[in-house]
Amino acid sequence: MVSKFVKSVLEFLFPPACPLCGTPVSTHGELCADCWTSFNWIDGSKCVCCGYPFALDMGDNAMCPVCASGRSELDWIRSACVYDDASRMAVLPFKHAGRISYSYFMSRAMIWALRDCDLSGIDVIIPVPLAYRRIFYRAYNQAALLAKPIAKLMGVKIDYDSVCRKYRRDMGHMNARMRAENIRGVFSVVRPENIKGRKILLVDDVMTSGATFSELRRVLIDAGASAVYGVTFCRTVRSV
Ligand SMILES: [Zn+2]
Ligand SMILES: [Zn+2]
Repeated sequence: MVSKFVKSVLEFLFPPACPLCGTPVSTHGELCADCWTSFNWIDGSKCVCCGYPFALDMGDNAMCPVCASGRSELDWIRSACVYDDASRMAVLPFKHAGRISYSYFMSRAMIWALRDCDLSGIDVIIPVPLAYRRIFYRAYNQAALLAKPIAKLMGVKIDYDSVCRKYRRDMGHMNARMRAENIRGVFSVVRPENIKGRKILLVDDVMTSGATFSELRRVLIDAGASAVYGVTFCRTVRSV
């Protein structure tokens, strides 16, 4: 526990600043008002299943056409904001340029995105695994950084070891069909005893096509998982 005195000395030496623009703020890790409002937070009406934000208020239990037709990637998914220029400016440095300090506001926003979900039955959190080759070069898995505060708040363990990922080339420039083909078979459950009968919350930074979640769900359900949910910082929103 840091004493009040040490804390005030630290705050004097390192005054809290917005991690994105450096403007002074009241608490370490928090965004300034300008940066906060630059994000397109998903705070209105949304699909009760995948969290897709609706332009109009559709009520609390509406589903998007994809989920209504039974093609949802997971049992439910929530994302804090839309993947656009503002969130890209946070996610790319967080993922590729070592800006791990961003994990504070990103994970807090993800916790807020989970506010209407029933979290009581969730047994374990799995950050979407990275291939070992990527962890070696990047030194960290960004999904694991985001998962830690969420797991702490929920009082649930993080499972880093039960699912492995093979290295495949980057999916950045692929369309949805190519992503689905590229991701097929990359995950394997190496400790099925940790998965069987469990309700699992997957954590990732971005959801684009949903192919990663779909494929992870397939192997987790094959291994006996009873439900698979997901939370991301941001998600792509296409018109449906
Ligand atoms: Zn700022
Ligand atoms: Zn949906």
